[in-house]
Amino acid sequence: MTAFSGGKCHEFTEMQPFTTMALPATARFFCPIFHDDEIVPVLQQFYKDQLPIQILGGGSNTIFLQDFPGLVLQIKTTGIEVVSETAQDVVVRVAAGENWDSFVKYSLQREWFGLENLAAIPGTVGAAPVQNIGAYGREVSQFIERIEGIDLDSFCRRDYTKLESSFSYRDSIFKKKVSGRFLIQQVLFRLNKKEILDTSYPDLKNFFNSPETSQVNAIQIANAIRDIRSKKLPAPEIIPNSGSFFQNPEVTEDVASALKERYPEMPLYNHRPGYKKIAAAWLIEFCGWKGRWQNHCSMYDRHALILIHDGHASGKELYHYMTEVIESVFRVFQIELVPEVNMIGRFT
Ligand SMILES: Cc1cc2nc3c(=O)[nH]c(=O)nc-3n(C[C@H](O)[C@H](O)[C@H](O)COP(=O)(O)OP(=O)(O)OC[C@H]3O[C@@H](n4cnc5c(N)ncnc54)[C@H](O)[C@@H]3O)c2cc1C
Repeated sequence: MTAFSGGKCHEFTEMQPFTTMALPATARFFCPIFHDDEIVPVLQQFYKDQLPIQILGGGSNTIFLQDFPGLVLQIKTTGIEVVSETAQDVVVRVAAGENWDSFVKYSLQREWFGLENLAAIPGTVGAAPVQNIGAYGREVSQFIERIEGIDLDSFCRRDYTKLESSFSYRDSIFKKKVSGRFLIQQVLFRLNKKEILDTSYPDLKNFFNSPETSQVNAIQIANAIRDIRSKKLPAPEIIPNSGSFFQNPEVTEDVASALKERYPEMPLYNHRPGYKKIAAAWLIEFCGWKGRWQNHCSMYDRHALILIHDGHASGKELYHYMTEVIESVFRVFQIELVPEVNMIGRFT
């Protein structure tokens, strides 16, 4: 692979190595950012051309379906610093390009607790607030204090408090209202000095369901999660994928009861008052897509929510496979699956 230097733009760059779904597509311009002071000069260089801009971290939630006619800014900045500390907690500022899981390990080694259930999620710290990453009963927004970054329209610095970030299930202001217009440079986390553990998630409960493991600590939880995830999820280096492809749909209590009457085995989860969440994996499996290969693509046979391909799919093939899954689930349940991944480009 070509060695890329920070703040320098490269033309017609192959994006396959920079996303875990690894579809063939090029970016008109590709620019890795190693230092925050490289951002504005790069943006100024392209300002008058009004090119579309795509911010990229580790590419584990981004799919280039087609060649991208604009500028891809890949955030590779590093740095972790303590901002303040009390006997109860620590506030730590982390650069957007830091690897998420390395930061989870770093925090646990220092006995800063809270992120243990989010161990082994691929990607960068800067992308974590965008879809409010969550796993095993926790969401990153529970530990976020502030987001610092730069407004790409004005090139001005801007901070978002946790409240202003409008976090919800796999969502935030960075994914919707200011998507593509705000570049996250640092995330500030407030982490606990006391372990407040959560092993209530079913997979974790089963894992620790023996007398020897009744006294667990945060590092053991993180290790258990690494173990469970490695058995359940396909490694992107071997099987290209972007993790959960669809969000779990939310329906009103009334719709949920009607569905439960018709399909008693359908898993429903409490979410927020008046609504239930349905496991999208169950809907997909019910419609026969689990392990069904078509045009190089399939829903993973060990986890029906993960769309994989055999390394030879095109963006168009993947898009059409996804569309067929959505249509087939809709035909049976009148529920529209919404992709959780960020897709660049579309087909008709
Ligand atoms: C095997 C596997 C398992 C996964 N498991 C989980 C899971 O358990 N829970 C979960 O929530 N997710 C999971 N994911 C999805 C993914 O890991 C997360 O969404 C992660 O936060 C993406 O990080 P990234 O750096 O790779 O993001 P990218 O794909 O590079 O970017 C994702 C989005 O964030 C934006 N973005 C990235 N960096 C910045 C920045 N600095 N400023 C502004 N916008 C930015 C991008 O423009 C894009 O819209 C999984 C993915 C895989 C492949």
